[in-house]
Amino acid sequence: MTDLNRSSAQILESIDPSNGEVVGSVAITNEAALKTIVERAAQAQVNWGQRPLHERSSLVQQAYAALEDAEESMAMLISREMGKDTRRAGYEASGTLHGGRYLAAETAKAFASQRLAGNSEIQYRPVGTVAVISPWNYPLAMANNLIVPALVAGNSVILKPSEETPLVADMLVNILNETLPSGVLQIAHGGGDVGEALVKSNINMVAFTGSLQTGRNIMANAAPQLKRLVMELGGNDPMIVLDDADVFAAAQFAVASSFENAGQMCTSTERVYVDEKIAEQFEQAVVSIASQYKVGSWRDSRVNIGPLVNAKQHAKVVSHIEDALDKGATLLFGERKPLLPFIPPTVISNINPTMIIESEETFGPVVAIDRFGSLDDVIKRANDSVYGLGAVVFGERNAKKVAQQLQAGMIGINQGVGAGGDAPWVGAKQSGFGFHGSVEGHRQFAQVTVINH
Ligand code: NAD
Repeated sequence: MTDLNRSSAQILESIDPSNGEVVGSVAITNEAALKTIVERAAQAQVNWGQRPLHERSSLVQQAYAALEDAEESMAMLISREMGKDTRRAGYEASGTLHGGRYLAAETAKAFASQRLAGNSEIQYRPVGTVAVISPWNYPLAMANNLIVPALVAGNSVILKPSEETPLVADMLVNILNETLPSGVLQIAHGGGDVGEALVKSNINMVAFTGSLQTGRNIMANAAPQLKRLVMELGGNDPMIVLDDADVFAAAQFAVASSFENAGQMCTSTERVYVDEKIAEQFEQAVVSIASQYKVGSWRDSRVNIGPLVNAKQHAKVVSHIEDALDKGATLLFGERKPLLPFIPPTVISNINPTMIIESEETFGPVVAIDRFGSLDDVIKRANDSVYGLGAVVFGERNAKKVAQQLQAGMIGINQGVGAGGDAPWVGAKQSGFGFHGSVEGHRQFAQVTVINH
């Protein structure tokens, strides 16, 4: 009996991490159900892919417009399922509705055929069925970024949302399906085993957002049929604060970016290197700003750091803090061993590369700092990671020179990354390949075909 058969008729419960209450449940997609979903997706794709591009784009826009009435309910479900504070959950729900509509219009421009000089025409044809596998940290936004271009390109989509956030994903898919043709967008529920079965099934492409380890598994399982991949993986983003930086602005950014979404953001600042000439002042400012944050349940509207999503993630963050302190780091603010389910705002200094907090993605509300004396050394240290998602530099005269040498897909100078309208969201090194956003990103979801005539 396979794992999927064992889990047939099993129920996946969604738990509110702030108090352990069951928010609701969904049926786990068993092997037989998954087979039906995959067959249905292939059938539905044939008609969908043949519809004119402008029709597909306008239907997807209409589908997203229909989310308007559900904006508040979606925000509430995000908070309840993964603990996000209500303000941020509201932004995500509203971004899903408006961003989805905008993206559906924008992506259409990327898929129009082009006539080249000479006798060639480039067409952007559908790939087939795309499995969108998404994480829990931005349960709607991360799914959306991949669902929209995949659909507008003429593919059918099977969404496998995170097992932490199945209910809000269900709500999204159900509402979109009031407008979309049957079978074009479906959902499969369950954990990693269901994701793995989906990757191995008769689909054509996997568009994945999640951890590096899962990305490696997906690549291995996609290899036999050379399935197309878009991989948006983890990060360990460095921030470098130069001696002529605006210290307060840099401290404000370091705290906000480390604490965003309780630190559970792929491009959150994971390690901060500050020039020793301004380090004292910078660390004091960081502690002072961090102390103004309030940790707790999303039910309290003053809270801006919610709980960690689950006990495993909480234990991981605590172990990174403890490892750093055991190896000589200094706890400037916070607790050595916070209790479930929260991690209060934490500031640690004197980190070094032997500490897990420096070498791995922590994904918790921790500002982890060290001081540097040499620019060449700090650039080397910032680049000494398998990851290369984002990187940030604060400062003036050498900021551009430093940014030029950082190995990351997205780099911010005196600001965060990924803020630029139609720019792609892209990682370097083992933070992934294949990407979304921008004309080039949208086209990752199409089969480029050249016709000479
Ligand atoms: P995860 O890798 O544990 O899970 C992501 C999804 O993959 C879930 O739906 C899960 O069920 C599924 N999955 C697990 N094992 C699988 C397998 N073997 N085959 C197929 N699917 C499988 O990640 P997570 O904990 O949900 O999310 C956090 C991670 O996501 C962090 O590393 C974060 O940096 C990363 N992330 C990256 C981006 C980006 O844009 N680069 C954005 C958000 C999150």
